[in-house]
Amino acid sequence: MARSVPPLRQPAEMSLHRSEELVIVGGGLAGASAACVLVREGVSAVLLERDPEPRHKVCGEFLSIEAQTYLAYLGIDLDRLGASRISRLRLHYCGKQVEAALPFMARGLSRKVLDEALLVKAMSLGARIERGVTVRFMDTDDIASRVDAGPYGKIRAETLFLASGKHDVRGVKRTASGSINDLIGFKLHYRIGGEQRAALDGVVEIVLFEDGYAGLQLIEDGTANLCLVVTQKRFERAGKSWNSLIKQIAGECPSVADRLRDPLPLFDKPLSIFQIPYGFVHHPDPAEPPGLFRLGDQMGVIPSFTGEGMSMALHSGCLAASTLLHHGRVSAAFHKQMASDIQRQVRLAFVLNKAARFSPGQTALFHLCRAWPSLMQQVAAFTRIREGSMQRVLAPP
Ligand SMILES: Cc1cc2nc3c(=O)[nH]c(=O)nc-3n(C[C@H](O)[C@H](O)[C@H](O)COP(=O)(O)OP(=O)(O)OC[C@H]3O[C@@H](n4cnc5c(N)ncnc54)[C@H](O)[C@@H]3O)c2cc1C
Repeated sequence: MARSVPPLRQPAEMSLHRSEELVIVGGGLAGASAACVLVREGVSAVLLERDPEPRHKVCGEFLSIEAQTYLAYLGIDLDRLGASRISRLRLHYCGKQVEAALPFMARGLSRKVLDEALLVKAMSLGARIERGVTVRFMDTDDIASRVDAGPYGKIRAETLFLASGKHDVRGVKRTASGSINDLIGFKLHYRIGGEQRAALDGVVEIVLFEDGYAGLQLIEDGTANLCLVVTQKRFERAGKSWNSLIKQIAGECPSVADRLRDPLPLFDKPLSIFQIPYGFVHHPDPAEPPGLFRLGDQMGVIPSFTGEGMSMALHSGCLAASTLLHHGRVSAAFHKQMASDIQRQVRLAFVLNKAARFSPGQTALFHLCRAWPSLMQQVAAFTRIREGSMQRVLAPP
């Protein structure tokens, strides 16, 4: 059973200017994991999160073994939170399917529960979490960063961890050239019938359709998560209407039609995210000040096809904290290490994502997987964070 986690405190007394040793912008997995590691080692950190309350996020909610390893390291108990277990991958294309065992036991858990559990953990360890605070602008130099958090006030910080996810903050925007950004992500949770729940039990389903793909899996409480990525053109063809889009996809994909037979949507409308810069990797920039660390999706965005974005966010949060603790304000060294840890995986996922969007690539991908189901395991293995990279954080020399 999923447990509800207690609400966090609202922004403290507003003040105009103050100084902090370390500010973390964004309380997703990257920001909250960094906060946990730092405060555990006695560093004082304040984390600013724009959402006043826990909320759902666009995500397939598939937790790889690497993400699970980091969550266990941070003290998050996935069993207690009710995460589902997923041991098989099923690929659907034009009414046909191929299935293979995953090379690890994956888990499924909603981001609303997971992100909140991590923030609560950071707070219990001593991090100051300020909710409902949006950072509007930042500027940085070699000495410090200045953060404008609107009515919350202005903060001067020696070190800044930028973990605002897909959202750029004015003054420190990413240069996402070379990435694909014509995609739209959607997510909706459903209560589905017992027969369909049984068919999904223990499986993550990937469905390829014209100009996009979908992931379907169970999360806590037997809830089904449907997460789709479609091109803008495809959404336009559906008249920019979610209901038409999902109707069209169910018409093209019998597995989606089956799973969503008499479903009960659990939100009024799907969550969506536009212009996802898939393939982006930040490289150290000599002009960037040493105290500005980019974490999570601000560091790199792996196409969601592989379900490794969360482990990369956790890896970046833990590695940034460990770099600061052991080597000080050397963000260029951190960015270099991170780029080397994720570059290969992001590139492979980028190629797969391109193939998975259009029918010639989809046909090739499906037939290759049907001929060699172990290929799905190899792809799953090649797009993961390497053990050596994780050991640098989990068991530093
Ligand atoms: C369609 C899709 C499906 C995906 N599926 C999976 C999957 O199944 N498995 C997987 O591992 N990964 C998946 N991912 C990737 C994963 O969701 C991300 O990589 C991960 O969420 C990145 O974590 P983060 O902490 O960097 O950012 P986020 O989780 O986005 O957190 C950023 C936080 O910063 C806050 N914030 C933003 N701007 C400001 C501001 N100005 N001031 C203060 N706070 C701010 C936000 O409110 C948010 O809480 C998917 C991504 C997409 C788009």
